[in-house]
Amino acid sequence: MARDYYEILGVQRGADDAQIKKSFRRLARELHPDVNAHDPDAEEKFKEAAAAYEVLSDPERRRLYDAYGEEGLRGRGYAPDMDAFGSVSDLFSAFFGSGGFDAAFGGGRRGRGGGTQGGDVVVAAAIDLADAARGTQVELSYEAAALCPVCHGNGAEPGTPIVACERCGGTGQHQRVARTAFGQLVRTSVCDVCDGDGRVPETPCHECQGAGLVREQRRVAVDVPPGISDGQRIRLTRRGHAGQNGGPPGDLYVVVRVREDERFLRDGEDLVTVVDVPAPLAALGTSIEVPTFDGPVPIDVPAGTQPGDTIVLRGRGLPPLSRGRTGDLRVVVNVAIPRRLTREQRELLERFAETMTDDNTRSDEGMLAKLKRVLAG
Ligand SMILES: [Zn+2]
Ligand SMILES: [Zn+2]
Repeated sequence: MARDYYEILGVQRGADDAQIKKSFRRLARELHPDVNAHDPDAEEKFKEAAAAYEVLSDPERRRLYDAYGEEGLRGRGYAPDMDAFGSVSDLFSAFFGSGGFDAAFGGGRRGRGGGTQGGDVVVAAAIDLADAARGTQVELSYEAAALCPVCHGNGAEPGTPIVACERCGGTGQHQRVARTAFGQLVRTSVCDVCDGDGRVPETPCHECQGAGLVREQRRVAVDVPPGISDGQRIRLTRRGHAGQNGGPPGDLYVVVRVREDERFLRDGEDLVTVVDVPAPLAALGTSIEVPTFDGPVPIDVPAGTQPGDTIVLRGRGLPPLSRGRTGDLRVVVNVAIPRRLTREQRELLERFAETMTDDNTRSDEGMLAKLKRVLAG
C-alpha cells in the first residue's frame, strides 16, 4: 500500500506551495545518501519524498491526486516514476541542480567572476511503443531555478549596495581550529553566509530572499525521434537551472520511458508478436490478420505450418534511431490444438486420425535439429 503523499512530506492537506517546498528540502537534506550513510533505507525514502514532491508541487497533478489518488495520476500518465532516474544523484540533480548536495544546501564552491553554470534538470516522459515507432511530441512541465525577476540574480533589493561579507571578512571562507589528540587541526569551510562569494547584499531582495534565483514552473514541448528506446535521454541545452553570478544555464535531460505494448515484444528494431492458429487451419493453410502500428494486416499462413514457425514481415518493425534499416515484424505462429470437442468433432477427428500415415508428420528436419530448435525456443 503506497503511503499518502502528504504524510510522506509531513504536511497538512491544505499546505501551501512554500510549506511543501520547505518540507521536501528538509527531508532531502536529511535523507541524502551523502549525509545519511548509516540508514540503508535512506535512498528509498528519498525517492518516495521526491515522488510525493513531484506530484504535490504541480497544481494540475496535485488536483488529480486530491480528487482521485494515485489511480487518477496513472490514468493521465502523471504517476511519478522515480526509477526513471538512474541514481539518487540523478534524482537529486533533477530537483536541486547538478552541483550536488553542497551546491544545493550551501557549502558549495562558486567561481568568482565567471559565475557558476546552472544545474541540469532531469525529467522523465513515458510514451507508448507505437509513439516510439512513429516519433511523437510530449509536453512536459518541470520546475527549475530562474533568475529572480526583481534583482536579476544579484540578490540585492534594487537600489541597495552589495557589501563585503562580515562573517568571513570578504574571504568567502571560515577557518575553524579543532584541538585533537594529534594537535591542532585547521579546517577550512565555505562561508555559510555568502556561500563563498565574500560579498552579500546589504538588503536582501524581497522576492528571492537574497538567493538571486527563484523557482519557476516551466512547460516544454519535446520532439521524441522515431526509433527511440526505453531509457534513452534527450538533451535540451540551456533549459536547466539558471546559472549564478552570470554563469550559463544548465541543460534539461528528458529520460524517455517506453511503455510496454501488450501486442508486441521489442527486440532492437524488430517487433515480435504471437498469433494463435487452430491446428486444422495450420494444416490446411489459411489467411490471418496480424496487428501492426498501422492497423491489422492480412498474412498467409502456409499449409503445414508448425508450432513456433515464424513469418517475417519485412520493414514492419521500428525505424532505426540514427542509421540502418527499419526492423521487421516477426510473427510467431502458435498452433492451437482444439479443446472441448463436440461429439461430431470428435468423430471427425477420429476418422481423420485413422487415415493418417507417417508421411503426414514426417519433417524435413532431422531429430537433432528439431530438438535444438525446440530447446532454443
Ligand atoms: Zn531577487
Ligand atoms: Zn562570507
